[in-house]
Amino acid sequence: MIIVRVALDVPLPRLFDYLAEDADNACVGRLARVPFGKGEKLGLIVAVLEESLQPQEKLKPIHAPLTDLPPLPADWIALCEFCARYYQHPLGAVTSFALPPLLRRGKLPRRRAAAAKVGATAGSPPPLTDEQAGALAAIGEASGFETFLLHGVTGSGKTEVYLQAIARTLAQGRQALMLVPEIALTPQLEQRVAARFPDAHIVSAHSGVADAARARGFLDAFEGRADIVLGTRLSVFMPLPRLGLIVVDEEHDPSFKQQDGLRYSARDVAIFRAKQRDVPIVLGSATPSLESFHHGRSGRYRLLPLTQRALAANMPTVRIVDTRREKLQDGMSQALLDALGLRLARGEQSLVFLNRRGFAPVLACTACGWISRCRRCAANLVVHLADRRLRCHHCGLEAGIPRTCPDCGNQDIHPFGRGTQRLEATLQACFPEARVLRIDRDSANSPKKWQALLAQIHAGEADILVGTQMLAKGHDFPRLTLVGAVGADAALFAADFRAPERLFAQLMQVGGRSGRAQLPGEVLIQTEYPDHALYQALVEHDYARFASEQLDEREQAGFPPYAYQALLRAEAKSVEQSLAFLATAREAALALTGDGVMLYDPVPMRMYRLKNLERAQLLVESASRPALQAFLTTWNTALYDLKTPRDLRWHLDVDPLEL
Ligand code: ADP
Ligand code: ZN
Ligand code: ZN
Repeated sequence: MIIVRVALDVPLPRLFDYLAEDADNACVGRLARVPFGKGEKLGLIVAVLEESLQPQEKLKPIHAPLTDLPPLPADWIALCEFCARYYQHPLGAVTSFALPPLLRRGKLPRRRAAAAKVGATAGSPPPLTDEQAGALAAIGEASGFETFLLHGVTGSGKTEVYLQAIARTLAQGRQALMLVPEIALTPQLEQRVAARFPDAHIVSAHSGVADAARARGFLDAFEGRADIVLGTRLSVFMPLPRLGLIVVDEEHDPSFKQQDGLRYSARDVAIFRAKQRDVPIVLGSATPSLESFHHGRSGRYRLLPLTQRALAANMPTVRIVDTRREKLQDGMSQALLDALGLRLARGEQSLVFLNRRGFAPVLACTACGWISRCRRCAANLVVHLADRRLRCHHCGLEAGIPRTCPDCGNQDIHPFGRGTQRLEATLQACFPEARVLRIDRDSANSPKKWQALLAQIHAGEADILVGTQMLAKGHDFPRLTLVGAVGADAALFAADFRAPERLFAQLMQVGGRSGRAQLPGEVLIQTEYPDHALYQALVEHDYARFASEQLDEREQAGFPPYAYQALLRAEAKSVEQSLAFLATAREAALALTGDGVMLYDPVPMRMYRLKNLERAQLLVESASRPALQAFLTTWNTALYDLKTPRDLRWHLDVDPLEL
């Protein structure tokens, strides 16, 4: 008998030992069914042992191993082990998450006959600009692991650099992995990649891919048939035996960090993976995360700047519209209305950016002060006039729009504030002849609708786009020459220390949609704080100055990237329970020798209630990543031993993006 150690998807930080009959079954990397409790579970064999810590007579034999699937490779298991360790998540939960759902259930997809290539012809690459050529050459010189930060202004041709670097990787007979944010992965990008590499086997991986196709993609990558994997954060877990290059486009994008379950940063995991496999990795962005920019400045990453646009003669002109002394028309300044009118007359497209969907953020009674609150969350119900509903953007709770105040019966109740639906109505009223198109998660609530909207824009069937950040990334609309930003000030004084970084990136990205081709572009930002350094840096297209100022502030405040953080969050029926648990957890932490680790006091979260659960958090900080890691590892074990009320749930979030 052989003893095997199996990772099972259970919320416990431990592995389970079983017996296997012969060495063939007892193979590291194989999926196997094992008895568990009264039932059976599918797990991953992660080790073969001589001896178990448990007495042998207590061990049960494994059931059938899944022999149709070759064992998962050692480097893939090591990747999962790294994530389990670093993010303090049970290994079995990580391996299960990293597998496509079909395989997770022990099923294999039906094999498809290799699809005959539709005789596409390779789009020939354009001659590179000097800066692009320099960047490509630098990447080509890497003899193994090296992190490159391709910092290129919007429209500078970063994608072109990725494509040519990938071409070289394929020519060496190796595989390339390209990660993009969820919303940026459009058929347009897939087509652009497919057109460039008509003979390559390209696998798309994102949440919109059906189960069978996802499992097939995984196997194609795993068995070395796929040449390019193009996908969102989850594709960082694709096994790639011939991996030669990793690209992370829009590396600053918050969507690379998963906000539930395994709270991993796909960008950071990708860097680990590049190092593990000794291959170069290219992080690209017009507005790098301050973490990456910091590493670029210090020389830890190699900085590759692209300062010029590839096609357009110039960067768009950014103008600040001071709205302090103006009576706005439904939130729109005369300057913005004039600029929109001018684009209409010229037959060009405009985009008005407002990062808030719905008609208005709240419905309120002017007589008694009633406002539309969600009864399950610490949040307001948003007015959605398009389908006459009140809706919570956090838990999905819906209600009809009342005709009178539910509290006092007053008929004078009004939507307050402004969302994309209201802006759409205003614009349509101001420009009756214009084709106004709203793009947000309500109008594009399925991949199909989203694609249809994009096709409409590309076909020139829209004059004015109204949209949230969905439109900010990765799109190339050649006739778009004006971007107006309204309501941006709201983010200026948000409590989160990352809010300015995010606002700057959003405005830079969305502004970068204008004037990407031959027509010159203009960006108008409406604000009551025209002198704010953030806006001034945007006018001057000076990311570096903005980033340096932010980094100085962070250094003084001792925030990341000058400190490393983790959060312990708890949620329970009452905030007292959550806080009490955190206080106990803090006690447990003080008993450990956490050298150089700072423990803050437990506090209710800013959104202290979500779906009827009351939430609190405890921040842990250290100037040293290894110190924090060592502390978290022992603390995590101790946390599992704490007695918790039955309804209480807790988790650790390492390198949290939101405090
Ligand atoms: P980014 O990813 O930096 O926003 P893209 O790679 O999408 O920029 O390039 C912007 C536009 O410029 C695209 O239309 C692209 O085809 C074009 N482009 C990129 N590089 C070149 C080049 N060297 N010569 C001509 N056109 C280019
Ligand atoms: Zn009232
Ligand atoms: Zn809610």
